[in-house]
Amino acid sequence: MSVDAHSVASQLNSSGLLRTQGLIGGKWSDAYDGKTIKVYNPATGESIVDIACMGGRETNDAISAAYDAYRSWSKTTAAERSKFLRKWYDLLMVHKEELAQLITLEQGKPLKESIGEINYGAGFIEFAAEEAKRIYGDIIPAPLSDRRLFVLKQPVGVVGAITPWNFPLAMITRKVGPALACGCTVVIKPSELTPLTALAAAELSIQAGIPAGVVNVVMGNAPDIGDALIASPQVLKITFTGSTAVGKKLMAGSAETVKKVSLELGGNAPCIVFDDADLDVAVKGTLAAKFRNSGQTCVCANRIIVQEGIYEKFANALRDAVQNMKVGDGFSEGVAQGPLINEAAVKKGAKVILGGKRHSLGFTFYEPTVISDVNSEMRISREEAFGPVAPLLRFKTEEDAIRIANDTNAGLGSYIFTNSIQRSWRVAEALEYGLVGVNEGVISTEVAPFGGYKQSGLGREGSKYGMDEYLEIKYVCLGNMNKE
Ligand code: NAD
Repeated sequence: MSVDAHSVASQLNSSGLLRTQGLIGGKWSDAYDGKTIKVYNPATGESIVDIACMGGRETNDAISAAYDAYRSWSKTTAAERSKFLRKWYDLLMVHKEELAQLITLEQGKPLKESIGEINYGAGFIEFAAEEAKRIYGDIIPAPLSDRRLFVLKQPVGVVGAITPWNFPLAMITRKVGPALACGCTVVIKPSELTPLTALAAAELSIQAGIPAGVVNVVMGNAPDIGDALIASPQVLKITFTGSTAVGKKLMAGSAETVKKVSLELGGNAPCIVFDDADLDVAVKGTLAAKFRNSGQTCVCANRIIVQEGIYEKFANALRDAVQNMKVGDGFSEGVAQGPLINEAAVKKGAKVILGGKRHSLGFTFYEPTVISDVNSEMRISREEAFGPVAPLLRFKTEEDAIRIANDTNAGLGSYIFTNSIQRSWRVAEALEYGLVGVNEGVISTEVAPFGGYKQSGLGREGSKYGMDEYLEIKYVCLGNMNKE
């Protein structure tokens, strides 16, 4: 069944969740010059709606609103912030179905995956609501008897959060949940390809009672908005998820005002299948690690590195499993792979792929592809494919596998399939990656740290470690304690 974008849009509109303007200081606002851009359904190429196309001026106003709101938000108690976040989480859950439809509509992933993203994404808000109550410092044993040493944790300040299109909700909540819990206020710049989910989530933050100016959203001209966020001395932290190229630019720009920077950038995940792996577990895990979200995930298995003894069996089993995947509109029943986000994504895939081709559905649909006998020198091994293409590489020994896996500048997700506890431990220690899945293809959760080694990024999101990204540490020394 092909879903009529307009009927989904009008249903969302009637529940107030279809927003097309930016949010500045609690007010929905058009671009000051009235400019708009279109948001498209990647499955059909049809325009869903026109949204405000904002730039530097609107961003500066959003920063001012966030700065004003920071004064009072940072002074609320942890219990109050926790309650606001809990209410926001509850509303995200109440509107789960509509939000999931919105994700499928503007991003294309199968509805089932969109529902998974709402659960996962809302989970960061719920976790932050809990964790808000656990932000406290330390008392340090003093080296001198007349002193007392304390460590306080305080919010960083106004945060600029720039996010990509592949997880339209989760990439935002993973930043905004902890930021708000710590007492920071935010200016969000979602991807122009998927702004509608961000705006719906912002609407729900208002309905949750989160005060005006604590959450602001601007979108439109990405470089102008990015420049304004970077130039402002009132923005003390930039948190970015997206491509390595843009991340480097933002990091370089942030040097001028010495902002704190967190980066979640591209990956080149190895998926190592050892001879002693359980074949079914390895195929199922690899399938999930590679093909969910049409391969458009930063932790997607990018190089499937298979030991020679199991290579043929695994390659055949993976090919069979991939052949059974139904490709189509994310709203259709039983679809395992939706479209790619846009035609540019198809072109990028087509260049690096040896063998795959555009699906008969045409436009943004690409055939799930398996390529055998790839080596480390080929471009497909060196670059993030960001599409439904699974290249298989062959290896002989454990040392070979580790060498091939680590032979990249990226270091985000990685996977191992083996039935040996000792081997899984040894290899997990040796992999230069921020995340290691052992006999599992999907491991990300709000309770565990997510982030990269090497050029995959800086800092961590999720878990207690993700909270630290939004906190300053203040040392206080109380002297002359013995004086009456
Ligand atoms: P992108 O870098 O093109 O865009 C990301 C965001 O940055 C978007 O909002 C975009 O509008 C904005 N942007 C672009 N140019 C900008 C500029 N000059 N100044 C400020 N903002 C600017 O990335 P994308 O294509 O949206 O996402 C795909 C990339 O994101 C992949 O490389 C993927 O690996 C990465 N990613 C990483 C993670 C992670 O957690 N490490 C998660 C998801 C995606």
